[in-house]
Amino acid sequence: MGWGGGGWGWRPYVSVAERRRKAAREMEKRRKKGQSVSPVVIEGRAIAKTFWGKAWCENLERYSDYANRLPRGRTYVRNGSVVDLQITPGTIEAHVSGSELYRVKLEIEPVVKAQWKAICRDCAGGIDSLVELLQGKLSKGVMERICRQNVGLFPTPGQIRLSCSCPDWADMCKHVAAVLYGVGARFDHKPELLFLLRGVDAAELIVSAGQATPLKQPAPAAGKRLAGADLGAMFGLDMAQSAEQPAKPKRAKPAQKKAAAKKGKATKAKKPPRASAK
Ligand SMILES: [Zn+2]
Repeated sequence: MGWGGGGWGWRPYVSVAERRRKAAREMEKRRKKGQSVSPVVIEGRAIAKTFWGKAWCENLERYSDYANRLPRGRTYVRNGSVVDLQITPGTIEAHVSGSELYRVKLEIEPVVKAQWKAICRDCAGGIDSLVELLQGKLSKGVMERICRQNVGLFPTPGQIRLSCSCPDWADMCKHVAAVLYGVGARFDHKPELLFLLRGVDAAELIVSAGQATPLKQPAPAAGKRLAGADLGAMFGLDMAQSAEQPAKPKRAKPAQKKAAAKKGKATKAKKPPRASAK
């Protein structure tokens, strides 16, 4: 992924279409190598539409350090320039198609333990289930607490380290701004990634509720069970109402099918493991 060629000064004009093709080729190579590629796709005008996505974007926009520099990222993310975005605990890595394909890396500190405990305590009893939490079906009080500036669930600029491989990097380039918005768009579809990113267990918000009302056990028990499971998968299933995948994978060739049937577990193993911590 070199961006040398002619040094730092003059660079030939590259049309958007050509950039797109280059980026698409690069991403295709990665896919073939078995790396997951997850582009940010924005449908319609709004970058984020759900509680979680909007709350992420609004959090960033309220800090004056960011407010002036963020807007240039909007067009970029809308036109599909964020061709890959991955979220793991504490880290966001992305590829953004500009004059070249640039690498963006954002490091975000975990929520301070005492702060997370305070959030859980303040929200105790206010959230009925993990599904409702992830769907953003929350009371005003809970929403306000989660979004509260500096002490809520969203990071402050001081907790975020930004970097980009582009030559005109200065504090925040449009590639980084696009990725910051792209994260909001991603939380629309996978809000559980916010909790992963910030190093906290979403189920603890529900468990706290259980502790507050020990007589009503069913809900917290479910919350505890969910904690160990793949939240994304469960949430995805619930939202899409697409119950179970058919037992045999669609693209399996006959030979693979036989092998899979023999081993039994093999069909399940096709699914890559959940975002791995680094
Ligand atoms: Zn950049």
